[in-house]
Amino acid sequence: MFDRSESDMILDGKPLDGRTILTTDVHGLALFGPVFEKLVDALQISIGRLVEPEGATRLGVPPIISRRVLERLGYVEAFPHLLGTLYTYPGDEHTWQELVPAVRGGQSWTTSLAPSDVAMLPAVCYHVYPQLTGTDLARPLVVDVCGYCYRHEKTAEPGRMRAFRMRELVRVDTESAVRSWQQSWVDRAGEWLRSLGLAVSVRPANDPFFGAARRLVGAVQLTEQLKWELVVEVDQGLDQAVASCNRHKDHFSTELGFTVAGKIAHTACTAFGLERIALAVIQQHGSHPGHWPDELRAQP
Ligand SMILES: [Zn+2]
Repeated sequence: MFDRSESDMILDGKPLDGRTILTTDVHGLALFGPVFEKLVDALQISIGRLVEPEGATRLGVPPIISRRVLERLGYVEAFPHLLGTLYTYPGDEHTWQELVPAVRGGQSWTTSLAPSDVAMLPAVCYHVYPQLTGTDLARPLVVDVCGYCYRHEKTAEPGRMRAFRMRELVRVDTESAVRSWQQSWVDRAGEWLRSLGLAVSVRPANDPFFGAARRLVGAVQLTEQLKWELVVEVDQGLDQAVASCNRHKDHFSTELGFTVAGKIAHTACTAFGLERIALAVIQQHGSHPGHWPDELRAQP
């Protein structure tokens, strides 16, 4: 537990103010002080209580994913503007020596990089579906998965971070069961956010697809109510989605060939953006833990 005073924390000769986010030399990339991390821990415990009745299987995942998986699942086509692809240096020592002066001089050296077989993870649930490839699940599955994600956000707006923690519950089941599960989580996630003293607005939404898909696929998401967002104030006058409940129909199961008890599998996920929820709690209640709602002060 955090039991040092904030003034005890020193980083690079400057006091590390636990109440604030520490910015870096690039936008959307932040570090988090001790009070912020204490709040994220409390949110994790609270979400743990919220999801407990699901009896979910926990899955730990890395912050990178197979590039081929993202290609197969349609992410690259739909969101090329948000994807971070990892490039590595394929050359040898000799060619590298020619590049060193460019690195030292702050000139371009990245043209000699080549795309690797991995990309930054855009949503933690993308690690779940490939594990089911070619299987017929004997019973419905719920997975509780948490990890760091990357989105290539272009603005420096608070809450619009490029690297952030996402906790997701993923359900694999028949169409009607997945549909009612999604709706129940719209309600449960809303109630939970209200229990944190946050004013929540619940909206049908669509993902930020690239180009023409924004109009076409985005419209389908809206009319079929495939995506719901829970929106709260994360900074003065700034509302953002802090959680979402998403239904993918049989998109992933068709591509990867998985079923539930011999029937077509449908999937849905409920996602919580931990930094954004933490920002909203601080915006509403301040950064002193003593002022946070009881739900965030209770022990596990
Ligand atoms: Zn998801």
